[in-house]
Amino acid sequence: MKIAVDLDDTLADSVTSFIDFYNQKYKPTLKYEDFTAYTLNEINGMPKEEENKILEEFDNSEYYDKIKPLKEAIEAIKELSKKHEIIVVTSRPEKFEKRTRIWINKYLPEIKNILFVRKVYHEIPKTKAEVCREINAEVLIDDNLTHAHDCEKEGIRSILIDYPWNRDNMPNSKLIHRVKSWAEIIKIINEIEKELNIEKTSS
Ligand SMILES: [Mg+2]
Repeated sequence: MKIAVDLDDTLADSVTSFIDFYNQKYKPTLKYEDFTAYTLNEINGMPKEEENKILEEFDNSEYYDKIKPLKEAIEAIKELSKKHEIIVVTSRPEKFEKRTRIWINKYLPEIKNILFVRKVYHEIPKTKAEVCREINAEVLIDDNLTHAHDCEKEGIRSILIDYPWNRDNMPNSKLIHRVKSWAEIIKIINEIEKELNIEKTSS
């Protein structure tokens, strides 16, 4: 199968690194538990312009390159890539391609393909569902509920890693699988593969 995988907070522990960056410079400090939404604007009412400035500072800092991979993801990708084609589909802007490839090569060398859905910040990106359609990915693994819903509209399955920031409108869909671990992801990928094989042989 072709599996599309998000990078930040799916393979990489990006929020933790952002918090480390933020707390050495700004007050009041942030805790992981504070992240019950995607943006600081939603979390603590920070004006969007200020938030964009801080995000840009983070992107240009050493903390951005020091993002650690998420526990379990490394082994899981190793296992999945024996049988499946893994393609990273990220919302990072294309200008971070080099840094992103260095990071992937360091921690997840099995992954050769990385697709960027946008060239720069503040442009309307292609949806990840559109990208999955274009590359014929059977499933998207992500932490962003919007991408899961977009995939659902396109009839594409997604696996949503459960986080406090994606619990709004808890999905109740056959196409969205909410999971708490990479072990669960592997189980669901195996189930999807079986289902697809049954569909193939019965059609
Ligand atoms: Mg993400």
